[in-house]
Amino acid sequence: MSDNNIHEVYAIRYAHHDRKSSENFIGGDPHDVLQPLDYYVWAIVGKAGPIILDTGFDPAMGKKRQREMTKPLGEGLKAIGIDPQAVETVIVSHMHYDHIGNYDLFPRARYHLQDCEMAYATGRCMCHQALRLPFEADDVVAMVRKVFDDRVTFHDGADEIVPGVTVHHIGGHSKGLQSVRVKTRRGYVVLAADAAHLYAHLTTGRIFPLTYNLGEVVEGYATLKKLASSADHVVPGHDPLVLAHYPAAKPGLEGWVARLDVEPKAS
Ligand SMILES: [Zn+2]
Ligand SMILES: [Zn+2]
Repeated sequence: MSDNNIHEVYAIRYAHHDRKSSENFIGGDPHDVLQPLDYYVWAIVGKAGPIILDTGFDPAMGKKRQREMTKPLGEGLKAIGIDPQAVETVIVSHMHYDHIGNYDLFPRARYHLQDCEMAYATGRCMCHQALRLPFEADDVVAMVRKVFDDRVTFHDGADEIVPGVTVHHIGGHSKGLQSVRVKTRRGYVVLAADAAHLYAHLTTGRIFPLTYNLGEVVEGYATLKKLASSADHVVPGHDPLVLAHYPAAKPGLEGWVARLDVEPKAS
């Protein structure tokens, strides 16, 4: 692909959580082994400037939620030459606490999210403890303030952010969850975010326990694969294997920042 809409794509790890595999699947897991989650933010770099997918959480939220912060997000961005102050575009996959924190890190950015995610996070479903569990009222309020500051663009279904970068409503895990498709020199890479937490969800069709709509989750797996150039172009949102599968963005960033628009390492 030798046109102008080619982007570089990076996964930046900022936190980690040790847990058992039985916690990652509805119905548990027969092996019940250690199967930790990593926490990422993604950077999409093209000629229109860097686009950041999700904003992670800050050290205070990590402490509250008992997640281990490995490196603050700002440091990861700076390690690949991105100044958060200069970022103009942030895409929000969904409004769970681990995807919309660090509200002040991107003071110039416009935020892109789905209509129905904001409606979900501010509406009647939040009356139910089981559904509001992964949300934080302060995070939601911070996003509402951005609406009033004219810093949010809403999308309803599939839409283009810049040529070569499109959002796709998946739903399932959260009502307004969107994944992102990016044109790269390797083909179309799809950043699933929480439409697939782990490779194991995609390969076995099993479902992460926190879920708004089961049917949309499994339909979503098919959509992700259809949008991507191959099943191996789908990048799950919380899998530590991503950092093993793809090369480091540059020497010294192993286990921290991976480059996703290049061929995966031979395994
Ligand atoms: Zn989530
Ligand atoms: Zn998440």
